[in-house]
Amino acid sequence: MRVLVTGGAGYIGSVVAAQLLESGHDVSVLDDLSTGHREAVPEGCRFVEGGIRERAADVLAGHGIEAVLHFAARSVVPESMARPERYWDGNVGCTLALLEAMRTNGVARIVFSSTAAVYGEPESAEIGEDAPVRPGNPYGATKAAIDTALTEFARMHGIGAASLRYFNVAGAYAGLGERHDPETHLIPIVLQVALGRRESVAVYGEDYPTADGTCVRDYIHVADLAEAHLLALDACRPGEHRVYNLGNGTGFSVRQVVDVCREVTGRPVPAVAADRRPGDPAVLVASSERARRELGWTPRRPELRRIVADAWDFHTGGDSAGRPAG
Ligand code: UDP
Repeated sequence: MRVLVTGGAGYIGSVVAAQLLESGHDVSVLDDLSTGHREAVPEGCRFVEGGIRERAADVLAGHGIEAVLHFAARSVVPESMARPERYWDGNVGCTLALLEAMRTNGVARIVFSSTAAVYGEPESAEIGEDAPVRPGNPYGATKAAIDTALTEFARMHGIGAASLRYFNVAGAYAGLGERHDPETHLIPIVLQVALGRRESVAVYGEDYPTADGTCVRDYIHVADLAEAHLLALDACRPGEHRVYNLGNGTGFSVRQVVDVCREVTGRPVPAVAADRRPGDPAVLVASSERARRELGWTPRRPELRRIVADAWDFHTGGDSAGRPAG
């Protein structure tokens, strides 16, 4: 299939682009490189630098695109709290422009990168897709708004859409790993401490209603997450918008993650108690039963130790371009 990956120079987009190529798809990547890295775009992809509003229609028409996998977005919760307008414009506005470009060019399939942040503070321990959508921050609110738009576009325009709601993605695949600047995610920050690039990791809140008082999250390997995208792409049906949660179904606290990182790296990781981070729910753990049942998806790398070990390989094997050798 001829596919467009928006945000294919970013962490998750680049891994999905790599797997799409491996599966024989013809892959175009559109990315404005605002947060992505040109060298992360897998060799074999056609690369177009630019914004969705400016370039998406040309790329769809010029390359006979049949489906879009849409990753390009702003995704930092604290930034979204400080500057919500950037998120409404950059996430919702750009996605509407993309959907319009798809409509005018007859592209009728989209797989969308959504998030567990749409659920906010959940009511039950394991979150299914039918849990109430009550985002606790503007980032989650914009993703929830796009999910709603996709439902409407499926109903009114007959597109086939899938929203994949990610829990906490980590690990690396084929030399492609997480490199945000500034980094805000827990596992890469802890590994930077292990590498001596930071003095310590701040533990945001130790008074949550969890076993050790720190936040609990469901960590999923980026390669497992990417595989779900290829399955969702195949499962898109005209007029249907499907929603799937993607996680392992097991929660780890911040303290537990730090301990696993200490074990995997064999290095000391000083951890310092800090205030809660605004917008953080206490516990987010997925029920991915629907993805397993309907897509036939099985996470093949569910162990936290493996996820951290692959991220550690990425962080320690990098050459000067920040890209690991093998
Ligand atoms: N966290 C932390 N220190 C950090 C970064 C994150 O204690 O330096 C916590 C954060 O409050 C959350 C968990 O680690 O409870 C996972 O945060 P991350 O930003 O990786 O992902 P999120 O769950 O926000 O998508």
